[in-house]
Amino acid sequence: MAAAIVETTFESRLLDRRTIAERTDAFHFEKPSGFTFKAGQFLEYSLINPTETDAEGTTRCFSIASAPHEESLMLTTRMRDTAFKRQLAKMPVGAKISAKGPYGELVLHEDASKPAVFLAGGIGITPFRSILVDGAKRQLPHRMVLFYSNRRMEDAAFYEELEGLERLNPNFKMVPTMTAMENSRYSWGGERRQIDRAMLSRRIDDDPLPVYYVAGPPRFVTGVHEMLRETGIEERNIRAEAFDGYT
Ligand SMILES: Cc1cc2nc3c(=O)[nH]c(=O)nc-3n(C[C@H](O)[C@H](O)[C@H](O)COP(=O)(O)OP(=O)(O)OC[C@H]3O[C@@H](n4cnc5c(N)ncnc54)[C@H](O)[C@@H]3O)c2cc1C
Repeated sequence: MAAAIVETTFESRLLDRRTIAERTDAFHFEKPSGFTFKAGQFLEYSLINPTETDAEGTTRCFSIASAPHEESLMLTTRMRDTAFKRQLAKMPVGAKISAKGPYGELVLHEDASKPAVFLAGGIGITPFRSILVDGAKRQLPHRMVLFYSNRRMEDAAFYEELEGLERLNPNFKMVPTMTAMENSRYSWGGERRQIDRAMLSRRIDDDPLPVYYVAGPPRFVTGVHEMLRETGIEERNIRAEAFDGYT
């Protein structure tokens, strides 16, 4: 039997930081021994003795972008000019952050006969990167389709890695869409529209009925959730997580 997932508070050292897309950094924190989580869950991070703060305080939630079998806990975020993110940007390797969790229900359903459809708006890719890397590692039989919406190629975190996962996992397909490629230095021959009903029906087979997972900034999540409801998808087949805090 799998061990129960226990919520805990711990301090964790920064091991590494990398820029993985434009103004988007991945922070790798040490994973305490014995800490377990399900792919798709999140942690609540608190800065320790920050030198500045703002009205939003010193705590933020971030999905664990790494998969459970990976060595570190990866936090991936858009780097903007807020007190919390300035502090994060300044953190030297070896410095500590406090974390609490894991929390969240945005985890893959067990019934593998039902396909999973992931709808990611920009940085909303983080929980899905965890689920997809986990799915490839464990060779899960679920059919999985990721609709990944960004303005430009430059903004699309984990893009090459996700393309690689398509080769590793024959059950996985990615449908990227770039909605503002006129501002990009790359050329693009793929989808350009926002994710809509027509795009979904062209790209997915709804027999058996899939479970839909939605993550990203609140406006994206509300819009896509509404579109799914209007398409007649039952609420019990939709799991959504809004990244509150993004405007
Ligand atoms: C369950 C859960 C999971 C989450 N997971 C993640 C995650 O994995 N990654 C993640 O990044 N966030 C995640 N979030 C959101 C996260 O908690 C923060 O709220 C979010 O990153 C916003 O950070 P911030 O408050 O510092 O403000 P930001 O939104 O980063 O910045 C706010 C200010 O920046 C300016 N700004 C707004 N848009 C832009 C822009 N396009 N360019 C430049 N400046 C701009 C504005 O002045 C705005 O007021 C999650 C939230 C929840 C609830």
